[in-house]
Amino acid sequence: MRIDVLTLFPPAFDGGPLDVSIIKRARDADLLDLQVHDIREHATDKHRSVDDYPFGGGQGMVMRVDVLDAALQHVRARAAEPGLVVYLSPQGEVLTDAIVRELATEPRLILVCGRYEGVDERFVEHCVDREISIGDYILTGGELPAMVLIDAVARHIPGALGDEVSPEDESFADGLLEHPQYTRPAEYRGWQVPDVLLSGHHANIEKWKKAQRVERTRARRPDLLP
Ligand code: SAM
Repeated sequence: MRIDVLTLFPPAFDGGPLDVSIIKRARDADLLDLQVHDIREHATDKHRSVDDYPFGGGQGMVMRVDVLDAALQHVRARAAEPGLVVYLSPQGEVLTDAIVRELATEPRLILVCGRYEGVDERFVEHCVDREISIGDYILTGGELPAMVLIDAVARHIPGALGDEVSPEDESFADGLLEHPQYTRPAEYRGWQVPDVLLSGHHANIEKWKKAQRVERTRARRPDLLP
């Protein structure tokens, strides 16, 4: 899978969470081809401006449609696959496991990170396929949301998690939260691991896990239950 990111701050993607562990391994194995591009390279005036005052007044600056469109066209032409254009935006549909799975089926994603007051609406109308939010709060830019989306999507690329872990065993995969997890030591400061997990009785363990998943979901996220 190929993911292109358009940002005003490419260094935000250097040496961060996309450069370690599972995502790094996926990139090293060419399962994920992540390319980061500087929107400012497509500014045309002598000040290299990428933003301007909002028409009609109001606070802050708005990212320019002409610069964004030029950046997108340039990046799009760098691979045969046109790619699905996603603008990270607090006004978009809120990212869920279901959306992550849909995005993971795309051969190429082009992620656009906004800054300031956001982007000129004409860019959204004419160039963006999907607007995606990572939650109902405002961040200073789309870079962290893009990283969240990339991390979540990359886990679904076949082979990215290795052989031992499956995204189907995680919370949300079947609509429930995961059961609680424990590891050694079996007792610590008098805090015990549930007996059933030490019993070696596989059928009982599976029954316990299922009951825990239902109970947790009912207690913490009743909205997920049918
Ligand atoms: N003026 C915009 C509004 O009120 O809807 C907020 C702009 S925000 C300060 C700047 C940029 O950060 C946005 O263009 C978007 O790319 C990104 N951003 C902020 N919060 C986000 C969120 N919850 N999800 C996804 N992107 C977000």
